[in-house]
Amino acid sequence: MATAPTPRPTTGKVRAHQVQNEGLIFEKSSPGKRAYKLPPLDVPEVDPAALLGGLVRPTTGNMPELSEIEIIRHFTRLSTWNYAIDLGMYPLGSCTMKYNPRVNELVARIEGLAEAHPYQPESLSQGSLQIVELLQQCLIEITGMDAITLQPAAGAHGEFTGILLVRAYHESKGNARRKILVPDSAHGTNPATAALCGYEVQNLKSNALGMVDLDELARAVDEDTAALMLTNPSTIGVFESEIHKIADILHAKGALLYMDGANMNALVGKARPGDFGVDVMHLNLHKTFSTPHGGGGPGSGPVACKAILEPFLPTPILVRRDDKTLGWNFDRPQTVGRVRASYGNYGMFIRALAYILANGPDGLRQTTEDAVLNANYIRAGLQDFFDLPYTTASMHEVVFSDRRQAAKGIKTGDMAKRLIDYGFHPYTVSFPMIVSGALMIEPTESESREELDLFIAAMRAIALEVEETPELIKNAPHSTRVSRLDETTAARKPILRWKPKAEQP
Ligand SMILES: *Cc1c(COP(=O)(O)O)cnc(C)c1O
Repeated sequence: MATAPTPRPTTGKVRAHQVQNEGLIFEKSSPGKRAYKLPPLDVPEVDPAALLGGLVRPTTGNMPELSEIEIIRHFTRLSTWNYAIDLGMYPLGSCTMKYNPRVNELVARIEGLAEAHPYQPESLSQGSLQIVELLQQCLIEITGMDAITLQPAAGAHGEFTGILLVRAYHESKGNARRKILVPDSAHGTNPATAALCGYEVQNLKSNALGMVDLDELARAVDEDTAALMLTNPSTIGVFESEIHKIADILHAKGALLYMDGANMNALVGKARPGDFGVDVMHLNLHKTFSTPHGGGGPGSGPVACKAILEPFLPTPILVRRDDKTLGWNFDRPQTVGRVRASYGNYGMFIRALAYILANGPDGLRQTTEDAVLNANYIRAGLQDFFDLPYTTASMHEVVFSDRRQAAKGIKTGDMAKRLIDYGFHPYTVSFPMIVSGALMIEPTESESREELDLFIAAMRAIALEVEETPELIKNAPHSTRVSRLDETTAARKPILRWKPKAEQP
């Protein structure tokens, strides 16, 4: 067994006097302080009410009063209490937390792109529209589909849009159908999407390999089935190797195959969903194509589809007019309508396109190979220490279970907390549902062998601690600003923002 690595120093330790006086950390306001200084008024004072009437607030809202440097130090200090992909590996399974290359940011900040207004005339937007066109072409090529919309603002939003297309398609044939099939290995957003779109969700049990059971599928599909929503590779990192047969079974009954393509990090440049029978799918630009996840947004979840679904795509769609200029076409009688204001999160399109062009076809294929190699390197490094419930080949992520450690009273969540002490963001805990006590690990291609070795050494050290010093794990983390939190209360009674003293409960 490797010797335990030294936990990496954590940043952002608070000075002792601040720990003793918790109040000083957040309550820094003192009356009269300002972060700016204006020259004395040299024009007649106007009553704001005379200008704005009833819109004027009676008070200024109890804002904290601070100097500029105090504000800067407050936010900079808070930022150092957080973990980030720019500090180290972020092995959050299913989320593809890869490095966001700085060149993407550089390109997205080019003034002519960053300052463009969504409703400026088309004649002045040809360059911006060309970026949309080129990204669409690249994503169509990568997925092997026929048409695409870039409007949806997230993966789940893409799923919603994709299933709206499915519904519109079946309705156009005179029968919307009522049921959507979802395997138990799917991402949680899949059944949620189907339900939100008004469908009855029917669960499909996976077989021993963690794949869709073809016999079970054949029994479940009928003339009332609108689609199967398939996460591929699935949330246990397994590629559905019989996906073409899955597609055939569905198509024989007039049902469609929806692929959740958030895990395309395992497929880009290697296999195209359009070639293996998928009718409609979404991508997560904020995963596979390296645009930031950014605290809940802005993301981008384009939906690509086969020609049979193209008439239903959200409006407007980008077209080349007779005079060769680009423009938006709103005249789409069968469209499901708009799903997003303007045309989507344009800044993400630029970043994704920069990433695609910087890598090129060979580079993208290489990222896929490296992502899969890295996951399998971790699998090989840890399989003697943790239980591997599905031995089917791993793609971009590997899922262990806490079976061995749980027998000693240590759960996947405990070990995740301890991993923080070793300087890593925790893996995904307790998901997917089909693995009890899951440890779901996705390193992505961003990580070097050195970082992977550090991670493996940390996980092995934790496995050893389970045997020798379990209390250390049960009370972890020890190196962070706050130690273990009461997660139940945090979820039930969340305090989501700072409130001035007067408004505190
Ligand atoms: C992340 C993810 C989603 C949801 O994407 P959001 O952008 O978070 O809405 C859906 N399916 C899978 C497989 C995912 O990994």
